[in-house]
Amino acid sequence: MERREFLRALGASALGLAAAGSAFGEDSVSGYVAPVPADTGASGDVVVIGGGMAGATVAKYLRVWGGAKVKVTLIERDAAYVSNIMSNLVLNGSRTVTGLTYNWDRLASNYGVKRVQGEVVAIDPVAHRVTLAGGTQFPYHKLVIAPGIDFDVMPGLEGLTQGVRDTQFPHAWKAGAQTTALWNQIRAMTSSDTFVMTIPLAPYRCPPGPYERACVVADWLKRNRRGARVVVLDENPGITAEPHAFDYAFTKTHAGVIEYVPNAIVDHVDASIRTVYTAMGNYSGRVVNPIPRQRAPKVLYDAGLVNDGGRWTFVDAMTYEHWDNGSGSGQARDVHVIGDPATHGQPKAGHVANQEAKVCADAITRLLRGESPDSAPVTNSACYSPITFEIASWLTAMFQYNPSTRRMSAFTTRAGTNPVVEAPSANKDNFEQMNKWFRQLMADTYA
Ligand SMILES: Cc1cc2nc3c(=O)[nH]c(=O)nc-3n(C[C@H](O)[C@H](O)[C@H](O)COP(=O)(O)OP(=O)(O)OC[C@H]3O[C@@H](n4cnc5c(N)ncnc54)[C@H](O)[C@@H]3O)c2cc1C
Repeated sequence: MERREFLRALGASALGLAAAGSAFGEDSVSGYVAPVPADTGASGDVVVIGGGMAGATVAKYLRVWGGAKVKVTLIERDAAYVSNIMSNLVLNGSRTVTGLTYNWDRLASNYGVKRVQGEVVAIDPVAHRVTLAGGTQFPYHKLVIAPGIDFDVMPGLEGLTQGVRDTQFPHAWKAGAQTTALWNQIRAMTSSDTFVMTIPLAPYRCPPGPYERACVVADWLKRNRRGARVVVLDENPGITAEPHAFDYAFTKTHAGVIEYVPNAIVDHVDASIRTVYTAMGNYSGRVVNPIPRQRAPKVLYDAGLVNDGGRWTFVDAMTYEHWDNGSGSGQARDVHVIGDPATHGQPKAGHVANQEAKVCADAITRLLRGESPDSAPVTNSACYSPITFEIASWLTAMFQYNPSTRRMSAFTTRAGTNPVVEAPSANKDNFEQMNKWFRQLMADTYA
């Protein structure tokens, strides 16, 4: 695919124009299903681990751009995917977990992606094969690893079983049963109760997400439990994303309801008295929502692929192939890592994961044809943040490949400007646009 066409495809996706087929749950859309060409000159077996925002997109576009001779096997542990995006709106009753649930049927029927349900427990980058929990092995020419993130156990909660942690202290940073559990806890609050949440040190999944959560919970409490409060214990020195929007929301829109505490490095949580001990003081709440620090999943550690700060995986953002970057880990050839576990200069977010997946699919297609990858990929990030049940803010940024760092850097125009833009104010129109953006992003990923 010519570079111009590719950029057009990226732009189309960003605007939601690549929506295809019908999606699921609350967000059904219909549209164009791209054909899978019989032969593009590319051929090979590609195994994709994980069918989330990154993995589902790369599987689809490998077929659309690579053609029928690129055999794509998508290995996903779960029976269905619950979107994290929009899951904060479960916490004010606007959406449901069921309505945010997607599956991979369209990827199979529309594009011929072979779907296998199973958990990958081992990756052998030398022998070029992966192994499932049951022992089944899948050889590959190219491997794409997209398993999302794992969580540290919050200090102080180690003594509790996973089941108790998930139900009593749900972080709900992977949407699903924990999200519903947290919503039930919020609904059980009274007007004199406090909701205490923690924000982990960056980098973490979805930079604006925790601030957005504080806003929607505060908004619901204001309307339904007047007098109840939200305490935000941020381990970072300040708001990490959309500072203008969230500073305004915390000090004006939700003034008197939200207490924001930066530099609140968590020492531990005392489960028995529902109290969080931090460098900035101790805070108790009827609901404690501790969002733990995050890292690459175990399967990447076991394969020796975690080489950035003992938590993440360096990739070369031209192709998303694993990259040593001076860490001494060596380079795993033909192993590409996309989405949240990878370090590439872009935020850990679903829209960006969709973009990374397209750059990766294009690069693999070209490599399987014996060509060089596009040497100057461009991506964008769009993020909408609900501030109340009816108004939202947004942030958008563009990135371009920097050959000297092999990462994506802020896009710079000839005029030297850097188009990272935050909405001037939160409003209803943004909220409507947010719903359209989400529908089209999910259709582009799953249909
Ligand atoms: C509350 C919240 C709100 C958010 N809001 C936004 C937003 O507004 N905009 C935005 O862009 N992003 C948002 N995000 C971030 C976004 O959800 C993630 O960045 C995105 O999902 C990352 O995609 P991924 O493919 O890397 O991981 P995931 O989407 O988590 O997918 C990983 C998949 O891999 C599977 N898997 C894991 N391990 C294995 C294994 N060993 N074998 C087989 N399968 C495996 C998992 O089951 C999962 O389906 C939000 C996140 C949260 C928590």
